[in-house]
Amino acid sequence: MTFGSLGLCDELLHTVVEQGYTTPSPIQIEAIPAVLSQRDVIAVAHTGTGKTASFTLPMLQLLAAKFIQNDVIKSSPSPHPQCLRALIITPTRELAAQVALSVQHYSRHMNIRSAAVFGGVRIEPQVLQLQAGLDVLVATPGRLVDLYDQQAVNFEQLEILVLDEADRMLDLGFIDNIRHIQTLLPNKLQTLMFSATFSKEIKSLAKGMLNNPISIEV
Ligand code: AMP
Repeated sequence: MTFGSLGLCDELLHTVVEQGYTTPSPIQIEAIPAVLSQRDVIAVAHTGTGKTASFTLPMLQLLAAKFIQNDVIKSSPSPHPQCLRALIITPTRELAAQVALSVQHYSRHMNIRSAAVFGGVRIEPQVLQLQAGLDVLVATPGRLVDLYDQQAVNFEQLEILVLDEADRMLDLGFIDNIRHIQTLLPNKLQTLMFSATFSKEIKSLAKGMLNNPISIEV
């Protein structure tokens, strides 16, 4: 199995080679085509399995594909420069920073603006960063709600939502934040949920957030 056979575009294949990845991991083999098909996905995957790339690579490809379409049709690269297109929610600051770094690495050959926001640091620089315009935001739940309350984030054009380490999100008591954030998002959204376990609670969360998802367990 190769990354090319999973349907990734040339820019991303180039990036994958630069990262030194030769073969896709089992979660990547399953998740990359599933995400590219634009279906909702629930995946049970542990840290260290290559799960970040398994949602980030196809997510970037979907964003880039529509970007090109907009460019051709409207001759404007970004019709809504202040609106987020993809949102990745993580349970901890450390994971948010790490995922944002991966997004930055994987999108280096693309015109995609991304950043991480989390609590424990001043909110003002994050507000300024959002005002300048971002395509992909990686956020912890509490800080995301604070930024929304300050009208610093706009979800109107959001296309993709990723919940990373959803089981830890529940363990850390973020369920109310997640449910609240869900009410703020557009109805038509591709949602991807990653969790290390497939507990009753995760199944129930998935039922409320995912629409006819592809289920992946490797
Ligand atoms: P993750 O499970 O997303 O935390 O990734 C764990 C580590 O595996 C990261 O350091 C990635 O850079 C690396 N990685 C991801 N995909 C591959 C791959 N296909 N081949 C080799 N390393 C990879």
